[in-house]
Amino acid sequence: MQTQLRIAVQKSGRLSDDSIQLIRECGIKFYNGAGKLKTEATNFPAELLFLRDDDIPRYVEDGVADIGIIGENVFVETQSQADLVKRLGFSKCRLSLALPKAVDYQGVQQFDGMRIATSYPNLLNKYFAGKGIKADIHEISGSVEIAPSIGLADAVCDIVSSGSTLLSNGLKEVETIFESEAVMIARKELGPLKEAILKKLLFRIESVQKAKG
Ligand code: ATP
Ligand code: ZN
Repeated sequence: MQTQLRIAVQKSGRLSDDSIQLIRECGIKFYNGAGKLKTEATNFPAELLFLRDDDIPRYVEDGVADIGIIGENVFVETQSQADLVKRLGFSKCRLSLALPKAVDYQGVQQFDGMRIATSYPNLLNKYFAGKGIKADIHEISGSVEIAPSIGLADAVCDIVSSGSTLLSNGLKEVETIFESEAVMIARKELGPLKEAILKKLLFRIESVQKAKG
């Protein structure tokens, strides 16, 4: 059988449509039947895997997938050993600290000693360590923005794009700690055959990006 590059993309979520569109714009054709976990490209030596985005770094490290498209926030948070091979320019967002609207914000030192809910404890710890701030970080996996209103935390550190989710939960964004976009990651030591396929794919992605300006 011909060697195929296994590409992991988010099954459903904020990265999915743009990831699939990018692959199609590269001239790679495939059928993605609803609910299918895996599909083969018909005109390029690649196979697509549809997975939860949070699992993609692990699958790439373990060699289940060769490359993957994820948010840079997840790539850095998971301390992935994979290589970042390309910034893709979509799914732009930021990781920000937010406080209840009524709290007067004086500066980042104010977070010292606070209880902060986040899904990104590693990124937040690193940011605070650089500023000498010690906070009580509570890792929660979803609906972070409700934590202050239910008394679980004094502040949150969460993904923001427009800020409307924060506002509707009575919070205000006060500090950006990380800027993110979709990135392509690759397993180390793919071997010459897969390296060659990846190179071809990256060349096509660059052409697509150039055409868009
Ligand atoms: P789940 O794993 O349950 O599907 P999730 O929050 O991890 O939830 P998405 O909300 O689809 O999944 O987000 C996937 C990625 O898209 C995030 O890690 C981030 O990089 C990016 N992202 C998140 N929110 C936004 C947003 N509002 N605008 C643009 N990109 C975003
Ligand atoms: Zn996710």
